[in-house]
Amino acid sequence: MDITETRISLVGRPNSRLRAYASVTFDDVFVVRDIRIIEGKKGLFVAMPSKKMQRDCQKCGFKNAVTNKFCGSCGIGLNPIIEKDIVPSQHHRDLAHPIKTEFREYLQSKVLEEYDFESKK
Ligand SMILES: [Zn+2]
Repeated sequence: MDITETRISLVGRPNSRLRAYASVTFDDVFVVRDIRIIEGKKGLFVAMPSKKMQRDCQKCGFKNAVTNKFCGSCGIGLNPIIEKDIVPSQHHRDLAHPIKTEFREYLQSKVLEEYDFESKK
């Protein structure tokens, strides 16, 4: 599978580690948007689009972010999270991601290459 197009939208937000969004086209027929380019401690990396995990309020059923302590709708204190049930890596779940390391590296290098080009324009 080849990446046939990469589009970058730079994010000029100070105090944010998010540098840009990328949209990547595979074999001219499939697009993945909202891939993020993030400034990490060891340099730039590419994060796949992800979804914030939610849990239901025990009183009103409102869907709250997994990290919320109080319900965003009725304000009740949410049941404490049992830490063994939800580890921090499960607060977000990737919606689409490469399965093989080689493809992940290929994707990352294509996206960062295009970011480099865009950010120097
Ligand atoms: Zn509620």
